[in-house]
Amino acid sequence: MDYHPIPAIFVADAPGLDFLNSVATPVDEPVDWISDGEGLLDWLAQAGMAPPDALADIRARSTPEELDEIAAQARALREWFRAYVKSRKGHALSADDLRDLEPLNQLLARDAQHGEIVASESGEGGVFSLRARRRWQSAESLLMPIAEALGKLVCEEDFTHVKACEGPKCTLLFADHTRGHARRWCSMAICGNRAKVAAHRARLKESKGA
Ligand SMILES: [Zn+2]
Repeated sequence: MDYHPIPAIFVADAPGLDFLNSVATPVDEPVDWISDGEGLLDWLAQAGMAPPDALADIRARSTPEELDEIAAQARALREWFRAYVKSRKGHALSADDLRDLEPLNQLLARDAQHGEIVASESGEGGVFSLRARRRWQSAESLLMPIAEALGKLVCEEDFTHVKACEGPKCTLLFADHTRGHARRWCSMAICGNRAKVAAHRARLKESKGA
């Protein structure tokens, strides 16, 4: 289904998982928000993972074919990482899990980041702050904020609380940051209400049958 009129889904509470959720079935038909180069640029803008001027610059300097090729690489990265997360969610990561991250480390090695001293915003400690900046050299640079988000996910997220939505047909993943770790749904609007309606119908049926 065409992704263009539908806003992407950001319910994961972790950017690396939001990236996995860039293909989903919000209603009946699957939608892939990064099915082509334009989709990837749009998704990165919606995710706030790249500054708008960097995206505009890469769009202007690349051919549609180049952008489509990077989107294909992003989809391959997404599906490889989905398998990694799915086989490990619900448990804390262990040292052995590093071995299988080699493809991600290879991608991270291509990143071009550098520090920049900037004036601090009010409320921050000192007068200046050191910020990480990225050189957006080519269309391939579009993969770098994604690789960074995936890297942060495995380094900073407790995989014990990485969950799949319990909606029967839902594929969305999220990090459960609720206090009791009782989150079950991608969102109340999508699957929570659906489950409530289903439970209500089941109760009605039961009471009529009784
Ligand atoms: Zn769901």
